[in-house]
Amino acid sequence: MEAATRIRIVLVGTQHPGNIGAAARALKTMGLSRLVLVAPEQYPADEAFRRAAGADDVLAQAPVVATLAEAISDCRFVLGCTARSRRVALEELGPREAASKVVALAAADEVALVFGRERTGLSNEELQLCHASVHIPANPEYSSLNLAAAVQVLAYELRVALLAGHALPDATATPRQELAASHAQMEGLFAQLGETLDDIDFHKGRAPDSAMRKLRRLFLRATLTEQEVRLMRGILADAQRMARLAGAKAPE
Ligand code: SAH
Repeated sequence: MEAATRIRIVLVGTQHPGNIGAAARALKTMGLSRLVLVAPEQYPADEAFRRAAGADDVLAQAPVVATLAEAISDCRFVLGCTARSRRVALEELGPREAASKVVALAAADEVALVFGRERTGLSNEELQLCHASVHIPANPEYSSLNLAAAVQVLAYELRVALLAGHALPDATATPRQELAASHAQMEGLFAQLGETLDDIDFHKGRAPDSAMRKLRRLFLRATLTEQEVRLMRGILADAQRMARLAGAKAPE
């Protein structure tokens, strides 16, 4: 089940070290081992290792990084797990659908499932880095699972999808299609898109945030390939060049 090695579980800003340990255990029971910790509040901590029980190997090899962007920079598909729907209108997947998509993509690409803080979940800025969200359809009046319990539910679904995928004849041996763009490549595109919109005076004095949020959503939903990102950036570079020429010619 090599696909499992390309699936990483990212915990953002975890407040209780016990939950980190319990998440490590949840992963190991389902045959997963890649945990990444983004700015945990108290870590390393004895409590984490206690709660990991026999899964301290998963903890020991979990990198600790400062930002979510760092944790996912080489990922080509990123899902954010949310206890409730947010203002950020991301496509919302159920756990089963999400797991089968993640496992299919992990045949060739790095993919990530991202979990938020116990108190406040993922911020809107963090969700904007994701291609889609996953929601466990819990009791709508009490929908927030304990962090490690949410990790366990998703890890189980990944396990089921991995076992099913494994039985398929050579699902992973089909010739490689075009590579999906990585998080870092998408951020490069968004940065240039932001600059271009300024260069062509698209915003006309309005704050750029709302348009950029919508454009991010549009392009992330489309899951662009590397080639498509290059094409878009080529078009933007030409638009920027034309804007410079027009600016040079425009009468003061
Ligand atoms: N009070 C927070 C809940 C945080 S629970 C909030 O309202 O957002 C900690 C994390 O567990 C969440 O950020 C999410 O990643 C995961 N989680 C909890 N319940 C979930 C659910 N029903 N579906 C998907 N993820 C869930």
